[in-house]
Amino acid sequence: MASVVKRAVVIGGGIGGLCTAIGLQQAGVEAVVYEQAERLSQVGAGLTLWANAIKALRKLGLADAVINTGAKIERGEIRTADGRTLSRSEQGELEQLFGEPTIAIHRADLHDILLSALPTGTLRLGARCVRLEQDEAGAATHFSDGQTDRADLIVGADGVNSVVRKQLFPDLKLRYSGYTAWRGVVATRDEAALGTTNESWGCGSRFGFLRIDRERVYWFATANTPAGQMLTAAERKSHLQARFKGWHHPIEMLLASTDADEILQNDIYDLEPVKRWGVGRIILLGDAIHPTTPNMGQGACMAIESSVVLTRSLAQESTLPTALRRYEAERMPRTAWITEQSWRFGRIGQWGNPLACAMRNLMIRLTPDSVMKKTLAKAVGYEL
Ligand SMILES: Cc1cc2nc3c(=O)[nH]c(=O)nc-3n(C[C@H](O)[C@H](O)[C@H](O)COP(=O)(O)OP(=O)(O)OC[C@H]3O[C@@H](n4cnc5c(N)ncnc54)[C@H](O)[C@@H]3O)c2cc1C
Repeated sequence: MASVVKRAVVIGGGIGGLCTAIGLQQAGVEAVVYEQAERLSQVGAGLTLWANAIKALRKLGLADAVINTGAKIERGEIRTADGRTLSRSEQGELEQLFGEPTIAIHRADLHDILLSALPTGTLRLGARCVRLEQDEAGAATHFSDGQTDRADLIVGADGVNSVVRKQLFPDLKLRYSGYTAWRGVVATRDEAALGTTNESWGCGSRFGFLRIDRERVYWFATANTPAGQMLTAAERKSHLQARFKGWHHPIEMLLASTDADEILQNDIYDLEPVKRWGVGRIILLGDAIHPTTPNMGQGACMAIESSVVLTRSLAQESTLPTALRRYEAERMPRTAWITEQSWRFGRIGQWGNPLACAMRNLMIRLTPDSVMKKTLAKAVGYEL
């Protein structure tokens, strides 16, 4: 079915923006993506793509490429800092239930797969959107170098600090989670690191690691901190080594083996869910409107799902306003549930009081598997 738009401009060449452009082009829409970065560099980070995201990628024709490039996650564990197991989950079972695996992949590899699905010239680098305007006939985006472009639709997929969102909804304020996160990628032969996916909970800090291919492991670490206390690249490694000293194997080894210059740091923010995601011919997608804390590993998965729903609504509705309102109505409850659930998991995971942490750990040990599986099934078993 033909889309209600002929030409679309996507702001932001992240996972959400690229998937949107792919979906739009597959629906016959002329789509271009403007990305502020001069070049796409995605060092130091991996990503978990759950079955729900793999299903969405299958609709874009990209699931097999992602499955074949990344690593299948078969099982995961939550442990204490000294390595005692609090809970185990079998991701392999989820594949049987929902028909797609859970995949961990390097972000750069995912980007390459998405980019290879777009004709040369679709992605325009070094283009920072600074302002938008619209009238009945179209919408225009203005860039910092004075250039402009005009289209029937503008999709703001410009991430958690979205310029597009700030222009459309200046009153919306991000919510700081109370913790910061560091990430890194290490090449290793250590079997413990390449084996079971792991998240270890201390008091006010967590450390997780998972294999992203045959020889690389992605790790992440969190700590309760006031917003904005960013460490320099040089400080990050020694800070983390001191903070996670004595944690179970292979945590110290992973930190010691990580190139200090490639450790990323992000303060973790989300946005309390809102119902309206666009105005007129401008619509938001991904972290620009439904950013979520990373506790469920669902932020990028949500962006991919949203891209599929947006392009489908544009193809199935007969007017732009009905297509955009349908997209919001379909996506809002789903992303709101993930955002709030993930926020709650993060609060509990980051408890800093030792007594509360001991209670939490006991609670996790005693929680029946079925309770965890129910939440996971709602997140992962979603049908688009
Ligand atoms: C520590 C951590 C771990 C995570 N782990 C996972 C996980 O395991 N699984 C998962 O699904 N998600 C995870 N996420 C979330 C995931 O990274 C995001 O949800 C996802 O990247 C959102 O994609 P996006 O395309 O909406 O935004 P982004 O990836 O932020 O992309 C936005 C793009 O827009 C560009 N841009 C910004 N402003 C402008 C402008 N004015 N003009 C032009 N371009 C602009 C940016 O340069 C960027 O390239 C994690 C996040 C963090 C912080």
